Amino acid sequence: MEINRFNPPVRTLMGPGPSDVPPRILEALSRPTIGHLDPLFVSMMEELKLLLQYAFQADNALTMPVSAPGSSGMETCFVNLVEPGDKVIVCQNGVFGGRMKENVERCGGIPVMVKDDWGRAVDPQKLEDALKAHPDARIVAFVHAETSTGAQSDAKTLVGLAHKHDCLTIVDSVTSLGGTPVKVDVWGIDAIYSGTQKCLSCVPGLSPVSFNERALEKISNRSTKVQSWFMDLNLVMGYWGSGAKRAYHHTAPVNALYALHEALLMLREEGLENAWNRHQKNHLALRAGLEAMGMTFIVPEAERLPQLNAVSIPENVEDAVVRSRLLNEYNLEIGAGLGDLAGKVWRIGLMGHASRAENILLCVGALGAVLSDMGAEIETGKALSAVQKALQD
Ligand SMILES: *Cc1c(COP(=O)(O)O)cnc(C)c1O
Repeated sequence: MEINRFNPPVRTLMGPGPSDVPPRILEALSRPTIGHLDPLFVSMMEELKLLLQYAFQADNALTMPVSAPGSSGMETCFVNLVEPGDKVIVCQNGVFGGRMKENVERCGGIPVMVKDDWGRAVDPQKLEDALKAHPDARIVAFVHAETSTGAQSDAKTLVGLAHKHDCLTIVDSVTSLGGTPVKVDVWGIDAIYSGTQKCLSCVPGLSPVSFNERALEKISNRSTKVQSWFMDLNLVMGYWGSGAKRAYHHTAPVNALYALHEALLMLREEGLENAWNRHQKNHLALRAGLEAMGMTFIVPEAERLPQLNAVSIPENVEDAVVRSRLLNEYNLEIGAGLGDLAGKVWRIGLMGHASRAENILLCVGALGAVLSDMGAEIETGKALSAVQKALQD
């Protein structure tokens, strides 16, 4: 079998992640590899921590990227904070809350599930009821931005309720960070994790995390060892900690960290608020186009994420055929439904660098063209003018 160099095409990535990576970040990735203990690299790491503190709006000294994808940030939070026997309230309104439950169980914790319909935000009343019913709960965990459905929960309120009942909080901000407000200090989030390939538009494979003093106190009072050697923060901090001797723990993904540094620099140049506003504005433009084509969103307006648009697949339309035509004919990737929503929805991402006017026009134009060609009665021109009008508002 002949094997050649792999030359991927240039695609437009409008799925649930990875999102479009701008050339500037790809260029950073290709800079010369230096040692992970090189003094120049170590000073870049210090800047990286400051940039992440800005992105998270967190003063926490323990703010750093875990050397693996978002799922590893999730595990880092759970394995360090959950001890055998700990009761953990997990709010689930989609796929990722289910993974939190898995994490709790594997740490020997006892999950208490608070379930909401897929496509809805977490209901604070249900959380409060669970906190009252389980006064021995130690931790509350929830997903801020459920990428499987496009629903956004009210993190500030949920964290407030958890604290009122003396629980620590673990928050999944993989899809929210950089796209919608995430205010770790103001909201009092104790442990948070994110990913690089969603609204930060960096390459996949890193997971920024941040822990406050309350979380560190729980970790330092553990009576059992953290079961994961790789994710034990006591050991990781020998490499990442401030004033640490920078002892070898694992070889940091040097070039990927250059890319994250560049991505966060771009976010700081744009300004967090401007980035949030851009995501919202572009969401409204995409929505105008999709609705003009007769499509409906599955999440109620007040709970919608601007960076992840989940719409029902029109009747008599073959999901996989449409998505593969978009990919093959237009180099455009949109997301399929996940879990219970497989085959029922498309998830159209407007994350980070992918959240731009030309992507919206491409998506609405291409989707309109493919659906019309398959016999749907769609006026693509009208949909495109609706987008243009919304962009000019
Ligand atoms: C993507 C995602 C993850 C997992 O991140 P990976 O980088 O794929 O491991 C976790 N939570 C949410 C909400 C996500 O969208």
